[in-house]
Amino acid sequence: MDAAVQKQTDSRDAMTASMAVQYLKGVGPARAEVFAKLGVHTVGELLEYFPRDWVFAPGPIKIGQMRAEEPATIIGLVESVDFLSQRRPPMFEAIVADETGVCRIVWFNGGYLRNQVRLGQVIVASGKPNVYKHQLQLTNPKFMMAEEPQPGSPHAEPDKHFSGGVYSASGRLSSRQIKQIILPVLDHLDELVDEFYDDSCRKEAGLIGRQDAFAWIHMPPDEHKLAEAQRRLKFDELFLMQLGLGLRRYRTQHDASATPCTLTEEIDSRIRRRFPFLLTEDQNTCIADIAGDMGQTRPMNRLLQGDVGSGKTVVALYAALLAIANKTQVAIMAPTEILASQHFLSIERYLKDSQVRRVLITGGLTGKKRDEPLARIKQGEMDIVVGTVALLQKDIEFQHLGLVVIDEQHKFGVHQRAELRKDGAPHCLVMTATPIPRTLAMTVFGDLDVSIIKHCPPGRGEVVTREVDPQDRRRAYDFIRDRLRARKQAYFVYPRISSVEETSKEIAAATEAWKELSERVFPEFQVALLHGQMPSAEKQRIMAGFRKGAIDALVSTVVIEVGVDVPNATIMVIESADHFGLAQLHQLRGRIGRGESKSYCLLFAETDNEVAKSRLEVMARTNDGFEIAEQDLRIRGPGELFSARQHGLPDLKIANIIDDYDLLVIARRHAFELVSKDPTLAQPEHRSIRRALLAKFGDSLGLADVA
Ligand code: ADP
Ligand code: MG
Repeated sequence: MDAAVQKQTDSRDAMTASMAVQYLKGVGPARAEVFAKLGVHTVGELLEYFPRDWVFAPGPIKIGQMRAEEPATIIGLVESVDFLSQRRPPMFEAIVADETGVCRIVWFNGGYLRNQVRLGQVIVASGKPNVYKHQLQLTNPKFMMAEEPQPGSPHAEPDKHFSGGVYSASGRLSSRQIKQIILPVLDHLDELVDEFYDDSCRKEAGLIGRQDAFAWIHMPPDEHKLAEAQRRLKFDELFLMQLGLGLRRYRTQHDASATPCTLTEEIDSRIRRRFPFLLTEDQNTCIADIAGDMGQTRPMNRLLQGDVGSGKTVVALYAALLAIANKTQVAIMAPTEILASQHFLSIERYLKDSQVRRVLITGGLTGKKRDEPLARIKQGEMDIVVGTVALLQKDIEFQHLGLVVIDEQHKFGVHQRAELRKDGAPHCLVMTATPIPRTLAMTVFGDLDVSIIKHCPPGRGEVVTREVDPQDRRRAYDFIRDRLRARKQAYFVYPRISSVEETSKEIAAATEAWKELSERVFPEFQVALLHGQMPSAEKQRIMAGFRKGAIDALVSTVVIEVGVDVPNATIMVIESADHFGLAQLHQLRGRIGRGESKSYCLLFAETDNEVAKSRLEVMARTNDGFEIAEQDLRIRGPGELFSARQHGLPDLKIANIIDDYDLLVIARRHAFELVSKDPTLAQPEHRSIRRALLAKFGDSLGLADVA
């Protein structure tokens, strides 16, 4: 006997969750490889290979006992088969008999069954009989072929493999085979599965036991128990994810101590005098959150969310001035140089004539121009340093860094944030212009506190969004012409074809459109072209012309997505709008509606695609970035927007952060309570949770070293 076979378990042997599936009965090296492709290496992972569907079949009856509309399971000999390919939809038919009667079974679109259901075999089928041509028949029943058909004796029992879970199969491993491997493992749940919670906690959250949950998810006695099992396992998954986030947050807050910044009335009014307007209620609320955090020795770890133009920069500058008033330095980091210089410019506007020493560090600086400011930063003679994340992380030494402001725009770099903390522990404020649905805020950013600017400052005109069908293009152009005559300005945006970079193809498309618009449609106006591959000076010149109003309309690829602020531009045309995602459409639209007059966003699209259509409808219906983000998540599903792995979290196998939001909230509360009670999970009653957490997160939580 070879060693691998010898090691295969007998159902009497002890089993552990970390045991390789290879040693299970019926697996072996070849199937272990197939399992590995399904992400299953250990017995513990096998238990978490949950069914994708379930069959609830009643016990078998004779064909003669079937009644219309009463769910039934029958066992019979296949007496004839036929594939009716001419029918619409095509149909596969089998006539099945036992000693009491004959039953017709049909499957629509059942061509694939020709190789599965054969003459002379015994079939077990379960479904709700209906009457067709005065005869009972089963339509699209769940079925299986009995293991060993015995000629002439259709008395096979439908084995327990018929009811229960249906698994996502993989070429060489059928659902049924997977089930045959899992079922015996369920006899070992005692050894394999530990309870996480005490009785009172379980009762409060309304959860069944963890062992029952595993038993029932694979082999549910009825639908109600299945639902309970699903709820329990979803809860556990969300709980572990939140616990991981909670521990991560606990560590960043307790490992280090930041400089507490005191806010006096005098400092507050001195800062506010810098702004030529009253701050909005939302801005004030965010500032109160931030000042509260910065007053502590525990470093602030806060996310500031708000649409483009909602007034985040002002809030961030308030925080910066508070840190400076407390004799510390501030770093402001942006993802790109363009954004960094924009931040610097807008800060300049507010800080004119102030004594705050500030500098913009760009990659282009060399020699003395670079060395001198760096030396001053090191000696504490610079208060605010603005630059890209890469620059500030890599090269620059501060004397006493008190606050880091990170503008993440559309990218969320959890890892980046972590890295920044390597020297000391400054307070940290992350800004993002992408509204993050509450569900994501609790997951991706689950270790951050969140402040939201929901309403923009007053004095912004309404933005009306319309879908425009191809046949209405002329009328839309006429409408735009009227607006241009009224001295308003317009953007025409062309989609990015490849998702990565601007390609020559889309530049060509934009260039062609520009010719058409400037020569034929709007010859009486100044229409300019802008794309990413133009020389930088040329781009600057065109942008300046547009800002001044010398250019009436700007035709561009999506490069303008990044930071243009022209209040007089009140029209945005988005060509092939169906090619854009919701979030991007919303970002683009944020370029208009910046002045007081009414703005118009026209979405040109020609599509029958339902998803694309529903996106455009959402755009036309609402301007609320948060609602749009929620809808985006709903339309696209969490997968695309939220990949747990990318954020250093384990993937979710059964829970869904949208559908299971209510459960997520409860799980989060329990997880965070646990963190405050036992932040190292050292207490013996938390051992099983700790083990599960280590299995999911590995060492990334630093749990290993507190063992
Ligand atoms: P964000 O950084 O969120 O894109 P900004 O802070 O740059 O937004 O603000 C956008 C515009 O709104 C700026 O021109 C700014 O001067 C103006 N603004 C900000 N806060 C207010 C306010 N409370 N009242 C009036 N205008 C404001
Ligand atoms: Mg801004």
